Amino acid sequence: MKYIILGAGPSGLAFAHSLLAKGEDSFLVIEKEAVAGGLCRSMNVDGSPLDIGGGHFLDVKNETVKKLLFQFLPEKEWQLFNRISTIQYQATEMDYPFEANLFQLPIDKQIDFVESIAEAGCNKGLPMPDLFEEWIEWKLGSLIAKEYMLPYNKKIWGGNLDKLGTYWLYKLPNVSLRDTLKSVIEKKPAGEMPAHAKFLYPKEYGYGEVWKRMGEALGERIILNTPVTEIDSKTKIINQKYQADCIINTIPWTEWMKFNISPDALKEEIKKLDYASIRIEYHENNLETKAHWVYLPDESLEEHRILCRHNFCGNSKGYWTEINTKNKKQKNNNWNYTNEYAYPLNTIGKPESVKNILNWAKENNIIGLGRWGEWEHMNSDVAVDKGIKLANII
Ligand SMILES: Cc1cc2nc3c(=O)[nH]c(=O)nc-3n(C[C@H](O)[C@H](O)[C@H](O)COP(=O)(O)OP(=O)(O)OC[C@H]3O[C@@H](n4cnc5c(N)ncnc54)[C@H](O)[C@@H]3O)c2cc1C
Repeated sequence: MKYIILGAGPSGLAFAHSLLAKGEDSFLVIEKEAVAGGLCRSMNVDGSPLDIGGGHFLDVKNETVKKLLFQFLPEKEWQLFNRISTIQYQATEMDYPFEANLFQLPIDKQIDFVESIAEAGCNKGLPMPDLFEEWIEWKLGSLIAKEYMLPYNKKIWGGNLDKLGTYWLYKLPNVSLRDTLKSVIEKKPAGEMPAHAKFLYPKEYGYGEVWKRMGEALGERIILNTPVTEIDSKTKIINQKYQADCIINTIPWTEWMKFNISPDALKEEIKKLDYASIRIEYHENNLETKAHWVYLPDESLEEHRILCRHNFCGNSKGYWTEINTKNKKQKNNNWNYTNEYAYPLNTIGKPESVKNILNWAKENNIIGLGRWGEWEHMNSDVAVDKGIKLANII
């Protein structure tokens, strides 16, 4: 083969189909699971689809990505939603984002929060800190940090906030004192809003349907149920059976520690990479909320997010929760699924380690692609976009 693609998640699938579209068919995709889709797979649970990698919604902005995905699940089979996401803050279910919706809280709380934002380091012109916990306080003020952002982040990342850097936080909207005051006086959100105000979700299926179809359309060019267990990085022989000129790696680099790789310096860089595992748990009752999903900063609850399936998945009931496996304490018999690899962690030294790993890979004609190949938080539309762009380049 010219190319062997490790992993049939959105990035590997997009790359494979983009090669085909260019008339290149000397490739093979190797996937350990029985169905393509990676973290975006769905299963049928209690009569309806459930997204086993957690709540998944397609962002609407990238036309190239939509064009590719609509070839497999046509546009008319998707429903467009205006995002409703909320935060359960103490007794109030308030809209997301927190800082733009303070007006939904009792007056005394509003005053406390506004006062705290006025004292935030960024509003007082203090230098930006390098550590995650200090950055949150600097950006949003000590009260939002203490009562919402730090507990929520502790839950989703499984503690260890002191390990995280700040280089990825540009995604958070800017919070100015002026916008906050405007919002509490006018009693409506003001200022910059976060991304994904609209999203697409399949009308009759789970999010996994489109990826499953993309996998099926590859025919003999994909082999499922086949974990990659051995790679010789010099000869590019995989599982002693398949050989390629170039390997496209979308599986976690930490899995490469099981293969025979050298030098030791590379292993040291891989060992520095960290990740969070997420357990999904199904509950059969409907919740009294219009939200598609609800964030839960309350540290006495093990789950950090609830996905209200009955509010976005046609003819379904029930909801599921997302729990960092480090927080899972109570036993129950609910249907559940654990994703060992859910979130790459943005640890302080990560950018340098990833750069060194990708440099080694490039020298060996191996390319890192997608969430795990680049060890970056990215949504599926971004993973697809990267797959398309890589096929354009090579
Ligand atoms: C809780 C949660 C919520 C999310 N919400 C959204 C959302 O709302 N919208 C959105 O667009 N994105 C969302 N994402 C992100 C989305 O899941 C990823 O962007 C996308 O799955 C990345 O695709 P990928 O192909 O790079 O990686 P993956 O989907 O992880 O695919 C990697 C593939 O490699 C395979 N693999 C691993 N090891 C081996 C091995 N040894 N041998 C063979 N195969 C192997 C895996 O089985 C998998 O199929 C969310 C992610 C999480 C965890």
